[in-house]
Amino acid sequence: MSNKIILTGDRPTGKLHVGHYVGSLKNRVELQESGEYDKIYIMIADAQALTDNIENPEKIRENIIEVALDYLACGLDPNKATIFIQSQVPELCELSFYYMDMVTVARLQRNPTVKNEIKMRNFEASIPVGFFTYPISQAADITAFKATTVPVGEDQLPMIEQTREIVRKFNQVYSEVLIEPDVILPSNKACLRLPGTDGKAKMSKSLGNCIYLSDTEEEVRKKVMGMYTDPTHIKVSDPGHLEGNTVFTYLDAFCKDEYFAKYLPDYANLQELKDHYTRGGLGDMVVKRFLFNVMQEEFEPIRNRRKEFEKNIEGVYEILRKGSEEARKVAMNTLAEVREAMKINYFDDDELIKSHKEKYNN
Ligand code: ATP
Ligand code: MG
Repeated sequence: MSNKIILTGDRPTGKLHVGHYVGSLKNRVELQESGEYDKIYIMIADAQALTDNIENPEKIRENIIEVALDYLACGLDPNKATIFIQSQVPELCELSFYYMDMVTVARLQRNPTVKNEIKMRNFEASIPVGFFTYPISQAADITAFKATTVPVGEDQLPMIEQTREIVRKFNQVYSEVLIEPDVILPSNKACLRLPGTDGKAKMSKSLGNCIYLSDTEEEVRKKVMGMYTDPTHIKVSDPGHLEGNTVFTYLDAFCKDEYFAKYLPDYANLQELKDHYTRGGLGDMVVKRFLFNVMQEEFEPIRNRRKEFEKNIEGVYEILRKGSEEARKVAMNTLAEVREAMKINYFDDDELIKSHKEKYNN
């Protein structure tokens, strides 16, 4: 049986938010606990974060520990998963450099996520080359660890497709060294791309519409109470709409039936609540207060665990240092195989020297 290996990660551009949690973190912890995987690598993608933050190195530096704390708080376990920092594994840069030869500019320009992100950052006329090519560096990250499985949010699908193309190309041109990864998306549709509290399509650190895992109870309350709902639902008696109604999308993502018995016993489940809302006669405030309770149930234990890890910052840095060392060893092995396949392992190849000797000495 071949190995089952996970690689995934996050950019340290801010603390992690509940979109990351439902989109990827929760899945990771479940996969970790399933015991089905031989290896799990979790990468803090600082080098990738620098591609669009070149003037903000401090931001990246400050957020590495925040992301690490969020990981540990969610239940990623350094005894079961290798947590590491991308820039501490320079082999990834070398792999990216070679993979660049296997991708055309036109292909990168077609990547819908990159297109979108360029627009979001107003980069149209001034895209840093590093940012433009980040799908290639992501292919290096994934393949360096021979990952078979990448649990991510929906926005990452085009990146994984790009990786698969690079793998096929490399294996066909050179030899079967690299592994084509598969994606694991969240099974709950609402979690594929959690909208921001402002109703915008994606909760994103860069858009400032997030509920962070480390937000206090009061911050969460404020954000939930101020959330975007249905602008046509003015009077309580008005029939409400669910489509694009962020409060209901969040309930789809976070709610369990058991929370109704505890906080809103007039309803047995989410469907009954939705039916009442669309009929009319159910106020937004009732739904928001319920959502706040649901968020409390889901995130209070995570916040408390985070506080424990915050007491041992040195220990967390030690986890990252050890993880980075271990990751580097694995990436070095893959790079050695890549160099051999690409025939750039001159000094390790006695046959090469022998044949050239024969060429000139007979
Ligand atoms: P940035 O704005 O800096 O790109 P981000 O909030 O998009 O930050 P990333 O670090 O790019 O976060 O993404 C990390 C992981 O979280 C990816 O797997 C991504 O698919 C997932 N993810 C990010 N935002 C969401 C969201 N709103 N819903 C579901 N998954 C998400
Ligand atoms: Mg992103």
